[in-house]
Amino acid sequence: MSAQALWPWILTIVGWLTAAGGGALALWALCWDRSRGRRRCPRCWYEMTGVPGLRCPECGREAKCESKLLRTRRRLRLTAAGVMVVLCGYAAVRTPDVRRHGWHEFAPTTLIAGLAATSGRTGRGLMGVAVGSRASPRSLGEWWECRRQDFAEVMRRRMRDDRTWGWHARWYVRRALRERPPDIGSLVVMPERWPRGEPIPAFSGGLSRWDLGARLSGCVLDRHGRWPDGEVVLLSACEEPARTVRVGVGLSVRGVRVWDRVIEHPIVISGRGAECLLCDRTDRTSEDVRSALRPRLELTDAGEVRLKVHDRNPDPTWLKIECGVYARLIVRVDGRIVGRGHTGTAWAWPVERPWRTAAMIWEPGAHQKMSEPGVRITISAEGDPEQAWLAYKDNPFDKPSAGCWTGRFEVGGTLDELSVPGEEFGQ
Ligand SMILES: [Zn+2]
Repeated sequence: MSAQALWPWILTIVGWLTAAGGGALALWALCWDRSRGRRRCPRCWYEMTGVPGLRCPECGREAKCESKLLRTRRRLRLTAAGVMVVLCGYAAVRTPDVRRHGWHEFAPTTLIAGLAATSGRTGRGLMGVAVGSRASPRSLGEWWECRRQDFAEVMRRRMRDDRTWGWHARWYVRRALRERPPDIGSLVVMPERWPRGEPIPAFSGGLSRWDLGARLSGCVLDRHGRWPDGEVVLLSACEEPARTVRVGVGLSVRGVRVWDRVIEHPIVISGRGAECLLCDRTDRTSEDVRSALRPRLELTDAGEVRLKVHDRNPDPTWLKIECGVYARLIVRVDGRIVGRGHTGTAWAWPVERPWRTAAMIWEPGAHQKMSEPGVRITISAEGDPEQAWLAYKDNPFDKPSAGCWTGRFEVGGTLDELSVPGEEFGQ
């Protein structure tokens, strides 16, 4: 460990030890010197055991009553010194943070939670509304606004790092919600269409802008209007066709809900499974899919057959295809089936390795039948909406469209025409 990395630790340890020492000193100065039955003058602490009456023979002070002679001696200057030592120790502990983030690190969270601005200066802050700029302040008001923005940054950092009490965080979030109520419509993103009987995924779209460490939770309220707990991922399924669903949206901070609303969210619920995907079976798309997938055969020396397809890649042909491409595949030799299988390509994102081996089951002797000279091999593909649906329903939000290819195409030729030299597969 380098000296650079070590000194924050040293400061922390020395700082806490110093603070503990200061605390012990203060405690000792305040509580240690109790009377323990001794009668003492409350001003000069002369021991008056054996002295009759309440007047001190040393300084002449007359105590008001006997109990005043039995007080604990509290050394206030020493206590103050102890408190100073505690503060110095604490300052040492916080020094690394202050050096990194500025003097605001010293401010106690209670102060920060109450004063910090609730919307960011960049427009991407708490409620996504821009306030003041960082440019040099021209008035006291602007200067104060800048300080409040600094506090906001400190507050969010402490919340993110779990360095606040729960009530601090909730206080700040409640203030933010009161000062700028969130646009509920932007909080929940759901697919436009969804089938009956399938849990409905919802995505808390607006939440990332809150940057709060706060969690949005949601649910489709049950018959009794109750709130089941949990984050939004899947909302309960809708069994009947519908045009809207009632969604409860709640904001929780450290497990305590600080805000909730019920909204009617527009969504078309109809059909079952893949029926909510828009099917594309036009000849033009099938032609695009054929030249994009480019199915090819590879016969290895070890007697294996592989069917390869071009995966989604940055090719111009692929860029035209926005729907999901999942296909059932059949390979025939002179009209007789020798292999069946399926393939699917990434829905949207281009992959680095262009060729993908389709999952196939080959008839015994397929290798031999294909190798016979002069035979005609055909590969047919048919879009498979059920497979596309399985891929779609897990995360509909990163897909460019709720559609899948359901057309068909066939390629045919001799083995030579359907093969690609091995090196092109990019092994
Ligand atoms: Zn005295």
